Amino acid sequence: MGDDCLFCKIAGGETDTDFLMETDDVVVFRDINPIAPVHLLLVPKRHIRSVNDLTEEDSPVLSALLFAARDMAVQMGVDATGYKLIFNVEKGGGQEIFHLHMHMIGGWES
Ligand code: AMP
Ligand code: ZN
Repeated sequence: MGDDCLFCKIAGGETDTDFLMETDDVVVFRDINPIAPVHLLLVPKRHIRSVNDLTEEDSPVLSALLFAARDMAVQMGVDATGYKLIFNVEKGGGQEIFHLHMHMIGGWES
């Protein structure tokens, strides 16, 4: 956790990444390699490796991620048209950065 983790650095404000939202628990920024017109990453500030590593004490962080998704959908104008929320879990699930994050993808023409 921390030193070698890109998303810890981003969430800690150590990079020039622009946040679309920041709360006590979560930051939201655009994916650098978007696969859809809207492709955001919703990232807890706390270092958690993946969904596999969640514990009961992470419950508030999970709530914060979903509420951030709800609000970002409105902000990005995709709440009505729809979007996907995806967690990639471990290598076989496509996870490349081992700091928990949720993808929000959407904005396709409907
Ligand atoms: P995953 O495959 O679920 O681990 O997703 C990691 C995502 O992080 C990929 O979609 C990358 O495009 C994205 N990514 C990697 N580095 C950055 C960065 N510096 N800023 C924003 N997104 C990034
Ligand atoms: Zn981290």
